[in-house]
Amino acid sequence: MSLKQTDGAIYELIEKEKEYQNNTLRLIASENYTSNAVMEATGSILTNKYAEGYPNKRYYAGNKYVDEIELLAIERAKKLFKVGHANVQSHSGSSANIAAFFAFLEPGDKFMGLDLPHGGHLTHGSHVNFSGKWFNAVHYSVDKETEALDYDDIRKKAIEEKPKLIICGYTAYPLIIDFKEFRSICDETGAVLMTDISHFAGLVAGEAYPSPVQYADIITTTTHKTLRGPRSAMIMCPEENAKTIDKSVFPGTQGGPLEHCIAAKAVCFHEAMQPDFKEYAKQVVMNAKVFADELATKGLRIVTGKTETHLILVDLTQKGVTGKDAQMALEEAGIITNKNTIPFDTKSPFITSGLRFGTAALTTRGMKEDEMKWIADNVVKIIENPNDNEMKVKIRNEVKEICDRFPVYK
Ligand SMILES: *Cc1c(COP(=O)(O)O)cnc(C)c1O
Repeated sequence: MSLKQTDGAIYELIEKEKEYQNNTLRLIASENYTSNAVMEATGSILTNKYAEGYPNKRYYAGNKYVDEIELLAIERAKKLFKVGHANVQSHSGSSANIAAFFAFLEPGDKFMGLDLPHGGHLTHGSHVNFSGKWFNAVHYSVDKETEALDYDDIRKKAIEEKPKLIICGYTAYPLIIDFKEFRSICDETGAVLMTDISHFAGLVAGEAYPSPVQYADIITTTTHKTLRGPRSAMIMCPEENAKTIDKSVFPGTQGGPLEHCIAAKAVCFHEAMQPDFKEYAKQVVMNAKVFADELATKGLRIVTGKTETHLILVDLTQKGVTGKDAQMALEEAGIITNKNTIPFDTKSPFITSGLRFGTAALTTRGMKEDEMKWIADNVVKIIENPNDNEMKVKIRNEVKEICDRFPVYK
């Protein structure tokens, strides 16, 4: 029986969500629209499988096709990222990071990551997260003036603190990270270099962002952000760390792998190897640049002054509106963004002084510079008049028209 016949309530809600995804402008920097092929694999009969272990070393019989699928996913991941080893079993970015930490750290060990309000992820040492509770997390921050990473300062902190592991790769940092510099800091202090490329993995795959592969001891990533695959993750590393990583994923921190997601990841890697994915990655960055420039021209302050990625962070302080209120006003006009702390934010993470935008999803719809400019102009209008309901309704209708011109799901 179909979902519609079995469970009308969930069916209806999914249909509504589909329409909503079609009819709104989604500027959430961590979201994308994945392909029908990826969704077909995700929704496949592979969800019925138990395959604890690794290809050809399973704890269950009956995995001959599953082994082939997982081997294909691994092979494609290695080829796509030109990396020695890939473990494609991580369920999510957070679980990949759990496995990564447990591969190289003992509980209580010290590691260093970017402070959360400065763009780090929850799993990079927040006190409410396992990473800050089970390990001794110390932090570096961005420079107060430039809002960019200050590598001299990071080196100084690393020498003082002697962390066993240093993590770079963030959720709200618009500039390119100098992986070579991090490698040199880790070499000087004897730390393991972990890079979490969750946000910009698709840009790395599409060669619109430098690869950390030759520098990092361990690379974690989600597969559903700029990489445009299923909601999942993976870990990559040089061949010499393969055993440590594999053991840490299974049996260290996970049980049975989600083979339907692994098949979907294989599909995603295949798609990302096609020439048009390079075009996509380039356009994502171009769109972000145009979007940021237009916001700046219209008077918004861009954190770090620019973007070199898919992501733009703005400071609303001078506009007298909080991130929370701006996010809500934009949502009413069909423009979906998220409030975000900015470096040295004086407001709480639930209120915030900033908004974060990303261009990965809109670029998948085929939108280009002209659309970016229009959206940026209207974002500023709403931020400057968050309570003008008449204007929001007018913009909402225009948003719908743009969405109709760039359809996603039928
Ligand atoms: C999104 C993200 C994660 C977490 O991914 P989930 O799949 O949501 O657990 C981890 N690290 C970084 C840097 C991220 O951006």
